Amino acid sequence: MELICPIDQRCSDQITSLLRPPSVRFCTFIKTQEYFEQLISKRRCQGIKVKQNGEFGKGVFAETDFEEEELVFKDQMLVGAQHPSNKIDCLVCSYCFKFIGSIEQQIGRRFYLKTLGIGISSHNGCESNSSDEVEDNEFAYNHRSEQNGASSSSSSTIPLPTMAVESLMNGEMALPYSNKFPLPSIILCPGGCEEAFYCSKLCAEADWDSFHCLLCTGEKSESCSRDALLKFIQHANETNDIFLLAAKAISFTILRYRKFKASHLSKQENTASIILGTDPSLLLEAWKPISIGHKRRWWDCISLPDDIDASDEGTFRGQIRELAFTSLQLLKEAIFDKECEPCILSLSINAINIIGMFELNNLDLVVASPVEDYFLYIDDLPHSEKKEAEKITQPYLDALGEDYSICCQGTAFFPLQSCMNHSCCPNAKAFKREEDRDGQATIVALRPICKGEEVTISYIDEDLSFEERQALLADYGFRCRCPKCLDEEP
Ligand SMILES: [Zn+2]
Ligand SMILES: [Zn+2]
Repeated sequence: MELICPIDQRCSDQITSLLRPPSVRFCTFIKTQEYFEQLISKRRCQGIKVKQNGEFGKGVFAETDFEEEELVFKDQMLVGAQHPSNKIDCLVCSYCFKFIGSIEQQIGRRFYLKTLGIGISSHNGCESNSSDEVEDNEFAYNHRSEQNGASSSSSSTIPLPTMAVESLMNGEMALPYSNKFPLPSIILCPGGCEEAFYCSKLCAEADWDSFHCLLCTGEKSESCSRDALLKFIQHANETNDIFLLAAKAISFTILRYRKFKASHLSKQENTASIILGTDPSLLLEAWKPISIGHKRRWWDCISLPDDIDASDEGTFRGQIRELAFTSLQLLKEAIFDKECEPCILSLSINAINIIGMFELNNLDLVVASPVEDYFLYIDDLPHSEKKEAEKITQPYLDALGEDYSICCQGTAFFPLQSCMNHSCCPNAKAFKREEDRDGQATIVALRPICKGEEVTISYIDEDLSFEERQALLADYGFRCRCPKCLDEEP
């Protein structure tokens, strides 16, 4: 039986209009083109263009020739978040995702948090402490932790004495050659929470203005209820951290809407025709950067985890849906203002839907760790220097075990990358080069690309068999007709 959410019923018209692809009406289509052109010029990636392509909607096309391995474009994320479990291993800027502090702080903090027990997250599967409280949500939970499985893979490690950890944290202990890996110093959240850290004042301010002022749990938070906010965050951490990303998308839209409205009002002051209440057209405009992504309802498109039988699919999707509404309810108390409420409510439904896009488009946020580079550097030193350095560094490496190389991991929405279509024989890939040390997406050519050609990436492992590929791509809602698939089709 299909459950109908009361919010769905109340706002069905708004939801339909918000879910309608922007290209349906001609004038919106022009605006969409304009939006992408602005985005491309802002990102200075003049080598590409976003064009409508009949079958798949949008696509990214080369405006110039690219050589093999050449950078095609870099894409700044619109919203992104580090996975909560990854926060123990990697201290990064909450806005640009660069590693911050120092090599010593990165290592010391990790041990410190692990001894506090924060590191014993249920993600590594040895604990059963979470099963009681989140029984109903286990499906969603498992689904995420499967993807986050790389972190906290605790292998056999040798623990460090507390003293050694403290001296790393407080800066008394300097590891040999760590000055070769300087990191920006840590800037605290201007709102006073202890969850957001930054690489610079600029990042701190940009984050505050675009998302964080509504989602900060500190003293200066502009949220309506810090208690509700804390509950929301706890629920997301226990169930699915994609809700944190959805909250960021909603917060981004509310703040953009307020800015639009303020400038609109100041323009109209002279004529004294002040608009009261919510202006849906301004709200739609504020929502556009996010709505332009691919849309399917999250609970319809989230892929069925392997451990769930196909016959339980309905129950599974129902639970996911329940989870999303619980989350939304908590968020509503935390950040909605009375004035925006009716429209924001339907908008939030869409934010929850839009997170389907985050899951689907596989837009992973990955930033390589300087801690890994550091230990590789030590390993590469000439024999005598290496021996000398290892006297100090080896105990730390032994204590870290395989985890020394854990990178920053999260999920993000990249507006240009998300326009790229799939091919099983792609001409480009998302690839971080040595110099790419922040949360931006980088697209690199796999072979020469000619001007006018569509730039494609593979959403899946393209070495799988034809049947396996089509099955995975069915989750994205299409059947692949790339040259490889046409060739292999039985
Ligand atoms: Zn930063
Ligand atoms: Zn804060």
